[in-house]
Amino acid sequence: MFFSRTSPRWRHRVGAVGLCVILMFPSAPLYAQNFGPTRLPNLGDGADIPLGVERRLGESIAREIYRDPDYLDDPVLGDYLQSIWQTLLVSARQRGELTPELEQQFAWEVALIRDRSINAFALPGGYLGVHLGLIAAVSSADELASVLAHELSHVTQRHIARMIAQQGRQGPMVMGALILGMLAASRSVNSSSISAANAVMVGGQAAAMQSQLNFSRDMEREADRVGYGVMTEAGFEAQGFVTMFEKLQQAARLNDNGSFPYLRSHPMTTERIADAQARQQLLPSKAAPATSATHAMMSARALVLTNPGVDALRALAEQASATTFSAAPKARQAGVLYGAAMAEMKLRNFSAARQQLQRLQALGGLEVAAVRVVRLLSAELALAAGEPAYAVALLEPKAKVQANLDRASRMLLGQSRVATHRPEQAKSAASELVLWLNQHPRDASAWLLLASAYEAQGDALRAIRAQAEARAVELDYPAAVDRFKAAQLLAHQMAAEGKLNQAGHVEASIIDARLRTLENLRREQALER
Ligand SMILES: [Zn+2]
Repeated sequence: MFFSRTSPRWRHRVGAVGLCVILMFPSAPLYAQNFGPTRLPNLGDGADIPLGVERRLGESIAREIYRDPDYLDDPVLGDYLQSIWQTLLVSARQRGELTPELEQQFAWEVALIRDRSINAFALPGGYLGVHLGLIAAVSSADELASVLAHELSHVTQRHIARMIAQQGRQGPMVMGALILGMLAASRSVNSSSISAANAVMVGGQAAAMQSQLNFSRDMEREADRVGYGVMTEAGFEAQGFVTMFEKLQQAARLNDNGSFPYLRSHPMTTERIADAQARQQLLPSKAAPATSATHAMMSARALVLTNPGVDALRALAEQASATTFSAAPKARQAGVLYGAAMAEMKLRNFSAARQQLQRLQALGGLEVAAVRVVRLLSAELALAAGEPAYAVALLEPKAKVQANLDRASRMLLGQSRVATHRPEQAKSAASELVLWLNQHPRDASAWLLLASAYEAQGDALRAIRAQAEARAVELDYPAAVDRFKAAQLLAHQMAAEGKLNQAGHVEASIIDARLRTLENLRREQALER
């Protein structure tokens, strides 16, 4: 049977958790040895599967995600997501669900996926994913927190470890088919990273396996219970959990849930609904948590970044001149104006974008976080419109007084400096990024930006090394080794021509050491396959 990736029938069979589970079997002997059927852990107790093994499985999936063209590092949305995620982690830590051991061994990284569907997923080893469609659809940070807390709890309760154990019973042939089929299926409809031929080969079989890849009913209930505790103790409105649940329940009642893959991997069972109603009765009756201007703007940003097409962008821009606009609460107005400015920017109507931005700036009375988001948008617009020096002028004052400048401001400032094509700006960008990377060495985008800052100064040796570091962070060790080798070759050439100064010699010895490390990592990675 043929399933094209774009056919709704095929999409119906896709579950994000399926992606999580199937991709984590790089080696049959590994799981046969560790996850034999006699060693099944109990619910919430995945202790039989070593954390390090789960982490490595997670890494093998994360590597694929980083290569996916729909993987998106948007620093502005990323900061927003992190502001929620880090708060949840603190709460889970205080409650004892996030043990020091789990915290240390797992990644606790959340990836953004450019996909319009409403989905979030947990992978082995503490890697999580959030579709832009989810951020665009939720009405408040509280609702987003409830989904993230639920996924976080699947990880801390070791539900994934238990599924690994269950899948260990599958033969390698079936697993192979499953891996290919789910790989094809898991890619979003607007991506073309997996050929349709793979889907033809294995579609039916993979679909048949789907039911076994979902979390059990009991796991879902536990993730609800623990997640609810984590998000409320983190200070989010409990009402957000309830309204999100109602949203999902409503969608579940409709026949076509094509845009809600979250429901296929987290079905609304009668038990879950009863639990949610019991929780709701404990709450004082309140309306849904109010949307903050920050959330409304981030939601609009997520929508624009899904690349919805020219007509949809025009419609977004027109919302700002709708007759209903002035009657909306200020936070919603901020969201509409932000979305309109972003849409005009994407359409390259820069003067129209500036007009919407000015209306947004004139709103006044916005929370501090929202003011920052508006400032970032004005810099982003200046950069997009070919005025990088103006973008620098907008961002630099904050950078000078604020030692712990947020990542989005930092990245945007770096990009703007490089885009000025002025050597002294490129130099500032490089030194600022080096400081940041000392604190955050796992920031692949910052490494790539650093590479372009070095290139702009004509420092090819450091540029190639920074590119290599970016590949290493994204766990693509063969590509990292290639780049380090290229850097080594260049260093030798420069030395032979007498062009390597003292700093260059230091750089060359760092490159030699890093190449050895990465070659070892590459060997280990190859053995796991
Ligand atoms: Zn779940």
